[in-house]
Amino acid sequence: MTCASIRSELVGFHFGVIDEAPRIEVERHLTTCPACLSEFLNLKRDVELSASTEERPRAQVKSKLRAAVAQELGLVAGPAVWWQRPVAFGLAAAAVIVAMVSVEAVATSAVTAPVGVTATQRGR
Ligand SMILES: [Zn+2]
Repeated sequence: MTCASIRSELVGFHFGVIDEAPRIEVERHLTTCPACLSEFLNLKRDVELSASTEERPRAQVKSKLRAAVAQELGLVAGPAVWWQRPVAFGLAAAAVIVAMVSVEAVATSAVTAPVGVTATQRGR
C-alpha cells in the first residue's frame, strides 16, 4: 500500500471501522513509516480534541469550581460572612458550658440507690 492509500484509511482505522486486511496493512505501514505515523497521530489528536471540547467545562467554570473546592477544604480564606464565625464560636461555647453544668450537676447530686437496691445492701 502507498502512503496515499494508507492515509485515506487512517480515519476508519482510528475508529476501528475498517476491515481486518486493510487494518493489518495500516498497522504494518505505521510501524515503518514515520510520516504516516505522525499523520495518524495528528488525526487522532484532532478527533479527540473535537470530541471532548464540547463536554469539557469552560476554563472559567473550572477555576470557579477549583476555588470553591479549595474554600471548602479550608485551603484559602473565602469571603467569610461576618456572622458565621461568632455564631460558630457561640455555639461551641454554649456546648462547653452545657457539658460543664451537666458534669457539675451529676458530680454534686446526692447519691441515690438504683431502683431495687435496699439501704442495707448499699451500706457495706
Ligand atoms: Zn507512509
